Amino acid sequence: MSFSPLINRLINALRCLPSVGPRSAQRIAFYLLERDREGGLALSEILKQALTDVKQCSSCRMLCETPLCLWCSSDRRDRTHLCIVETPADVIAIEQTGGYRGLYFVLMGHLSPLDGIGPNDLGIDHLLERLEQEPIKEVILATNPTVEGEATAHYIAGLIKQRGITTSRIAHGVPLGGELEFIDGNTLAKAFAGRVPLEA
Ligand SMILES: [Zn+2]
Repeated sequence: MSFSPLINRLINALRCLPSVGPRSAQRIAFYLLERDREGGLALSEILKQALTDVKQCSSCRMLCETPLCLWCSSDRRDRTHLCIVETPADVIAIEQTGGYRGLYFVLMGHLSPLDGIGPNDLGIDHLLERLEQEPIKEVILATNPTVEGEATAHYIAGLIKQRGITTSRIAHGVPLGGELEFIDGNTLAKAFAGRVPLEA
């Protein structure tokens, strides 16, 4: 297939986007060239600016363009609680529940020896430094309920236990409004294992 060299380069570059294969890349390239050059230019500018200026919060590793993120720099957060998550999107998801007022630590992934991702890549040293220096009383491990997420939570819990700080793991189980017969066996087993006493 031979488009002009520049169009070919555009199509190839678009393929760095997740779930964009050759056909989608071609469709997007032609859409922008034929119908929305203005939108495409605006996209290219903000893309460049964001990719250059967005860095990580020096305290919690959340993505932001200031030295400290919104949460770490707020004086309205409970500094005795630290919630550990895998990704920046997890922070936003927890914030949207409106039920958590503490601080965060974003691992930017999970332990994955096969991919060569170890504690150093997840900023564990920095996490332990924070636990030494800040008045944190409880660490909430909110990594994903996957094999890797559980292993990561287990590893971090082991490191924290020696420091006399309470660690908790978010509960996983039956979704509210869900029906048992449609829930997969693993989730149901987890929900059973994590059952709590009913308050009278
Ligand atoms: Zn932060």
